[in-house]
Amino acid sequence: MRRASPHATAGEEEYLQSLFWLHEAGLPLTAANLGRAMRLSAPTVSEMVGRLERDGYITRDGDRTIHFTDSGRADAERIVSRHRLIERFLTDVVGVPWDDVHEEAERLEHAMTPRFEAYVRASVGDADTCPHGHPIALGERVQGVPLADCAVGARVTVLRLENEAEDLLHYLMAQGIQPGLRAVVAARDEELVTVAPEAGGEPATLTVSVAETVSVTAEPSPPPRTALPEQLVLGHSRYGR
Ligand SMILES: [Zn+2]
Repeated sequence: MRRASPHATAGEEEYLQSLFWLHEAGLPLTAANLGRAMRLSAPTVSEMVGRLERDGYITRDGDRTIHFTDSGRADAERIVSRHRLIERFLTDVVGVPWDDVHEEAERLEHAMTPRFEAYVRASVGDADTCPHGHPIALGERVQGVPLADCAVGARVTVLRLENEAEDLLHYLMAQGIQPGLRAVVAARDEELVTVAPEAGGEPATLTVSVAETVSVTAEPSPPPRTALPEQLVLGHSRYGR
């Protein structure tokens, strides 16, 4: 496959990252899932998927399932790992709050030389995930279950915030939900999930839609899966009815 240009554009890199996340999570690589993960409309996604195909990163088969080309996958892996590394650098070394690092990392990663990347890598020591819980060394992902699947009374440890959309991260930070948090599921109904931190302090209440995007280990545990909600509902109360 001949590459039209030697480097992915910033837009292509965003899509390659999201495609790689679908792959990591074991979800089907389709334009529909990409749209749901990135919260973009079907026409927007379809145009970029066409461009990624033209530029040799992906192929599509008869039922429109997306596959990485060998070089496309290698590029995606490099982009994803570097993005997570920079996020960790920004939180741990620079002091940027973890709900703000994703966008900053997007900009920085395009300006980074391999030499600077080596310094960044050294500066974060043995950190093995990004601040949202995604592995920097790919292939070391613990599967986990959505918080939304856990029964009342289950003891959970937050593994990962699956979706790094900025408004979602602000919402999770405001609720006190972050990787490593240990809590007990205190209540669960059709719309809301409440967890009580084991260390004490305020219980956190999330919409079920957001709780689908928070991966945890749980005891007792529901069957493993990664959820991809149709739409994210951040508000506690629904409006307009
Ligand atoms: Zn991250």
